[in-house]
Amino acid sequence: MTNYNKPETITLHSGWRSDPTTGSVAVPIHQTTSYQFNDTQHASNLFSLTELGNIYTRIMNPTTDVLEKRLAQLEGGVAALATASGQTASAIAVQNIAKVGDNIVCSTDIYGGTWNLFANTLKDQGIEVRFVDPSDPNNFLEATNEKTRAYYGETLPNPKLNIFPIKEVADIGRKLGIPLIIDNTASPIISRPIDHGATIVVHSTTKYIGGHGTSIGGIIIDSGQFDWESFKERQPLLNNPDPSYHGAIWTEAVKPLGPIAYILKARVTLLRDIGGAMSPFNAFQFIQGLETLPLRIKEQCKNAKLVAEHLSLSKAVTKVIYPSLFAGENKNRVNKYLNNGYGALVGFEIEGGIDAGKKFIDSLELLYHVANIGDSRSLAIHPASTTHSQLNSKDQLKAGVTPSYVRLSIGIEHIEDIISDIDQALTKSKS
Ligand code: PLP
Repeated sequence: MTNYNKPETITLHSGWRSDPTTGSVAVPIHQTTSYQFNDTQHASNLFSLTELGNIYTRIMNPTTDVLEKRLAQLEGGVAALATASGQTASAIAVQNIAKVGDNIVCSTDIYGGTWNLFANTLKDQGIEVRFVDPSDPNNFLEATNEKTRAYYGETLPNPKLNIFPIKEVADIGRKLGIPLIIDNTASPIISRPIDHGATIVVHSTTKYIGGHGTSIGGIIIDSGQFDWESFKERQPLLNNPDPSYHGAIWTEAVKPLGPIAYILKARVTLLRDIGGAMSPFNAFQFIQGLETLPLRIKEQCKNAKLVAEHLSLSKAVTKVIYPSLFAGENKNRVNKYLNNGYGALVGFEIEGGIDAGKKFIDSLELLYHVANIGDSRSLAIHPASTTHSQLNSKDQLKAGVTPSYVRLSIGIEHIEDIISDIDQALTKSKS
């Protein structure tokens, strides 16, 4: 097949041409649990990983495989693993290289669900997550000890929308044998963390990749560029015999198949043991979404920038948080890590505090009031009374959530209709 590397082409063509038996151009939904082996030797080869192929849909599926190939190429990786949700992707991405007694160092600016997973659930499982302020990359180094197995951050975390210093933190980790895992959920297409040194990229495909608010899913993408083998003590789970796969040493066993030790281990151990596989039907939905992602994200970024500029002129708004409006070091990071758009998320603080924020949300007629981002439709939420309401006011402020903060996720409706709905709700918020 022609060698192409532009997102607009990758999202439509990568990993699939047509079905060899039916000629079907759309990727079929392979709604099957299992796959007939050719003979006992074939079955044995698949189980011993001397040959890659379909065994059971908990660990692989031909429909899901197309999505994995497409997203791996889109992000500049070598292979990917689809999961039942973004949360599963984040959990597996860490658990694949960290176990009880180990730690990871993580940015404080992350999605609340990931924070909860890391601060409570992983902690209860014996994996310590050390949270640090990402504005100074050296904080990652300072929190590192001999048990640190990964660094973790989000490219474009809300509500602050401060861009993560990907290269700076990846450079610190690479010398120590510590990979950087980046959640790129909020910035597909407009940022490619692997180009800046990230080792692993995760997405909640639920958001922009699906784009139509129909399905929950996640993905882990392996850059194939990390030198796991040179850091045997730092990365024991990839360099020591794994009793859960008849003593395989992943960096050695997988070598003939390419630089996919990390992602293959995740598939055939954690996905095998815990489940959390993406359903083939959802994989199909994400493939449909992916086909138009480059067009949608372009339009969403364009609309969001216009909304941010419009809000900046409004007397009912005290502050607008949007990457195109940043200054200083935050602006430098925007310029370095975002291309052709600033994302679809817009934050603003409304005159009149928490009551005005709630009134604004209750007055919206076009924008949906939902706990989601990245949809083709425009969405809004008031974090202080919803997503961040369990945090005390001090922790809310630390997370960037003031009582009057409103988060918008701008869609692809006509810009005049989006702005008109926001304006009428702003007027009502004052009454
Ligand atoms: N990462 C980010 C940045 C998110 O915004 C979310 C969900 O909102 C997740 C991960 C979790 O994804 P999911 O809801 O698909 O489990």
